[in-house]
Amino acid sequence: MDKKNLWNRYSEAELQELNEISAKYKKCLDDGKTERECVHIAVQMAKEAGYRDVKEVIKEGKKLETGAKVYAVCMDKMIAMFRLGDEPLSSGMNILGAHIDSPRIDIKQNPVYENTGFAYLDTHYYGGIKKYQWVAQPLALHGVVVKKDGAIVNICIGEKEDDPVFVITDLLVHLAAKQLEKKASEVIEGEKLDLMIASRPIEQEEGLEKEEKDTIKKNVLRILEKSYGITEEDFASAELEIVPAGKARDCGLDGSMILSYGQDDRVCAFTSLFAMLDVTESKRTACCLLVDKEEIGSVGATGMHSLFFENIVAELVALTEGESNLKVRRALANSRMLSSDVSAGFDPMFEEAFERRSAAFLGKGLSFNKFTGSRGKNGSNDANAEYLAALRRVMDDANVEYQFSELGKVDVGGGGTIAYIMANYGMEVIDSGVAVLNMHAPYELSSKADVYEAVKGYRAFLKNI
Ligand code: MN
Ligand code: MN
Repeated sequence: MDKKNLWNRYSEAELQELNEISAKYKKCLDDGKTERECVHIAVQMAKEAGYRDVKEVIKEGKKLETGAKVYAVCMDKMIAMFRLGDEPLSSGMNILGAHIDSPRIDIKQNPVYENTGFAYLDTHYYGGIKKYQWVAQPLALHGVVVKKDGAIVNICIGEKEDDPVFVITDLLVHLAAKQLEKKASEVIEGEKLDLMIASRPIEQEEGLEKEEKDTIKKNVLRILEKSYGITEEDFASAELEIVPAGKARDCGLDGSMILSYGQDDRVCAFTSLFAMLDVTESKRTACCLLVDKEEIGSVGATGMHSLFFENIVAELVALTEGESNLKVRRALANSRMLSSDVSAGFDPMFEEAFERRSAAFLGKGLSFNKFTGSRGKNGSNDANAEYLAALRRVMDDANVEYQFSELGKVDVGGGGTIAYIMANYGMEVIDSGVAVLNMHAPYELSSKADVYEAVKGYRAFLKNI
């Protein structure tokens, strides 16, 4: 079954909507380069759409009715949004799930040091990256520093036109004969990913004869104190992330694609969010769940393995049908979910890694993976055939274009998502999402047509599955 390229099928009106969604999506990519920034965007947009913090609702103690819109945030890094449907919560929800953490390089807790004329921040990479891809390019620093008194200092350096950027250096090719003989995984080693941040010494006090030590580091600390009110010790309680500097860009002469950092998995997260905010009526409760830590195994309080989601569902059951452990279980077991994550788009330059008949192609619509995992489907959530049939019906009825795919050739590699975790509740879950090229590289590539079909598909799912 060969799916056709979508571009020539669109009407003028559809192309206009496609362009509007692309523009909105790119803006979100620019404003949301960390999981905290993504949660911030989601909360802002949810509030504008009439959503309320579930904590307020619990305090009021009033019951929630059909059409009520609430959200819950966990540690500023994970968010669940709900719009209550006509049916009770225990009949199940339609859940859109995606992750908002992306591969990157984090700053260690004791990071500032000076070495031979430069000041650096010591780093530790996050998620699966090809380390050699992150050197010799402009980088930005995003995150928070939390002071001992609890004050949160937001940091974002390298994004404004007149901001400085940072860099991780690479060895000049003239002297790299030995380096180039190394395996790609060792060309740049983890401990060599330190971020260069300064080269100018602090001004010496007059009358001092001997040159002080670490004058460049001292200057860095002076600047940090002056501009942000933070000290060297404050790095101990900071979450700072190094990401590529700059904005999401149209890619291609025809402007058909988007090149940007962090599309894994924000291409699914933001399209899910857009679809969620568009829901004005639904039989079943609509839910959008944006989680952290997927790239390192969905662990921790803000990862999918945490009980945060289950706890919030319990609160909602209490606020609608009355407290009942059984009804919480029913709500989860009767739910249906699209676990959305990026799929490996077919890349003609690396066709040896793909099997054409089961590959996801850019420009051919929303991608469904019945299973992910590796080798003999190891670690996969193998979606139920009956559920796949229901999805085909809903997508076809809503005129959504989609493709069924696998992540590369059978024996080549593999990957996982949050699908199997939610499947533990006994709910129907399938991996779906948008195909990208350059996955986990500093700049990932998607097709605007697929972004558009994702929003359409997610809307149809929330309303009709
Ligand atoms: Mn992902
Ligand atoms: Mn990933």
